[in-house]
Amino acid sequence: MTDCLFCRIVRGEIPARKVYEDDLVVAFHDIQPAAPVHILLIPKLHIASMADLELSHEGLMGHLMVLASRIAREQGCTDGFRTIVNTGRVGLQEVYHLHVHIVGGPQPLPPML
Ligand code: 5GP
Repeated sequence: MTDCLFCRIVRGEIPARKVYEDDLVVAFHDIQPAAPVHILLIPKLHIASMADLELSHEGLMGHLMVLASRIAREQGCTDGFRTIVNTGRVGLQEVYHLHVHIVGGPQPLPPML
């Protein structure tokens, strides 16, 4: 058991507006959306960040990325979207449970870099 915020969402202890769930992953709306579509896609397994990935996570991460594309399409991002994985202090990660931001909407998004 962990106190991690996103583990608590996985366990249903904190409400979230879920858009997808299966045995391995869950996707839900970001509480402070930065764009018309802003979904967080996470593994149910607690992995603190991308820096903690191991070869044994290959299948899980492949599943996650394939679903990111499917969820983006289902959310109406038919003209493109952005996937972002913030990692660690320098990567401005705030929640230490690996998550993919799926960001999109009808208007072009501002450049990041
Ligand atoms: P990070 O900076 O770690 O990549 O992003 C963490 C994201 O989690 C932020 O976009 C933030 O708005 C979102 N977030 C933080 N707390 C909650 C919460 O309790 N529920 C949901 N749905 N999103 C959250």
